[in-house]
Amino acid sequence: MSSLHRRNQQLWMEDVSLQELAVEHSTPCYVYSKRGIEANFLAYEQGLAEQKHLVCFAVKANSNIAVLQILARLGAGFDIVSIGELERVILAGGSADKIVFSGVGKTAAEMCRALEVGIRCFNVESHAELLLLNETAGAMGCVAPISLRVNPDVDPLTHPYISTGLKENKFGIDIAEAEQVYQLAATLKNLRIVGIDCHIGSQITEIDPFVEALEHLLDTVDKLGAQGIKLQHVDVGGGLGVRYQDEQPPKVAAYLSALLARFRQRSETLVLEPGRSITADAGCLITQVQYIKTNGGKHFAMVDAGMNDLLRPALYEAWMDIQPLLNDLRAPTRTYDVVGPVCETGDFLGQDRSLSIESGDFLCVYSAGAYGFTMSSNYNSRPRAAEIVISGAESYVVRARETIQDLTRGEQLLPEERSS
Ligand SMILES: *Cc1c(COP(=O)(O)O)cnc(C)c1O
Repeated sequence: MSSLHRRNQQLWMEDVSLQELAVEHSTPCYVYSKRGIEANFLAYEQGLAEQKHLVCFAVKANSNIAVLQILARLGAGFDIVSIGELERVILAGGSADKIVFSGVGKTAAEMCRALEVGIRCFNVESHAELLLLNETAGAMGCVAPISLRVNPDVDPLTHPYISTGLKENKFGIDIAEAEQVYQLAATLKNLRIVGIDCHIGSQITEIDPFVEALEHLLDTVDKLGAQGIKLQHVDVGGGLGVRYQDEQPPKVAAYLSALLARFRQRSETLVLEPGRSITADAGCLITQVQYIKTNGGKHFAMVDAGMNDLLRPALYEAWMDIQPLLNDLRAPTRTYDVVGPVCETGDFLGQDRSLSIESGDFLCVYSAGAYGFTMSSNYNSRPRAAEIVISGAESYVVRARETIQDLTRGEQLLPEERSS
């Protein structure tokens, strides 16, 4: 649910004027709607009400602890890919027994910590990881709950950089080899097989690839059952797309009913790992126009947010809507490239946008609540943006803007050189 609306020529999130917010907190800043996040999560809960299920929010989409807290309070589980994300979930009040741990490169230290807090499941991505996890759990005198991430080899029809379920990419175990690897896992004393999982990609706007992947998973589950390996859960990953421009992603309810149609009468718990579809449209990035500039007949709006703040346009050529917070049409409407201050030609937020703006105006980049702040960096020694949560008429700074001091934290000058 997009939580933005226009009233009196102004853009509002819930009951807060973003113009007033931007003036008060300065820019760039990420703003998230508590109500929007809740509504998106509850759409999953409602769609799955008839089925034993667990919705694990993919923390890499938005890892601010206040955002995780909003979801933890609703009983969400979490899908993590690092120990840093694990500690965030714990800080936010998430339950360890609802955490699934994905990722191709888990270290022994990460495994130890996850075993210590008692996560629900390790989503194991390779044969070698299986052996290391067995050894690590053995050394701790415990048993690790595992699922194998299989690669169902379906084409999610999305951008190649965010397509993860094809045979030739680095994720998961080829589904054709899965039974063999499960058989091996069954012989390892410090592992307990609990599930199977996949994740075929991100920003997927068709239902069919999901259904196809689920069918492949269920085939494997049934074959394993016949061999005496009984699974408690089937995890179909995340990946449901959102509308940035003119995409027509299925509604959560339609997506879930397609899954449930294949899942009926099964005893396993259905696990999902949505990220983008929970937080993307519940958040936005606010930035200010610094300069208007015309070069060779082309108009540029130089803004104070760059690719270090929001990487998606530069990395994936992603299109994200950009609109002024005030639309009073003071300035002539012209076609602009909206560009950041970073020294890279790829540093743009949007190209060829028709806008009526002057320097000093604030702009909203829509649907920046997922893979926005989490992909931001300090490139060009730019402090990272503030993050703010809005709830009704209240706003809370949930991450202070970084300071110049923050930029060099942990750095050291070399000792003084002795002159000879
Ligand atoms: C990124 C990721 C997700 C979330 O994907 P979305 O497209 O944000 O829903 C879920 N599971 C795994 C394993 C991931 O890597």
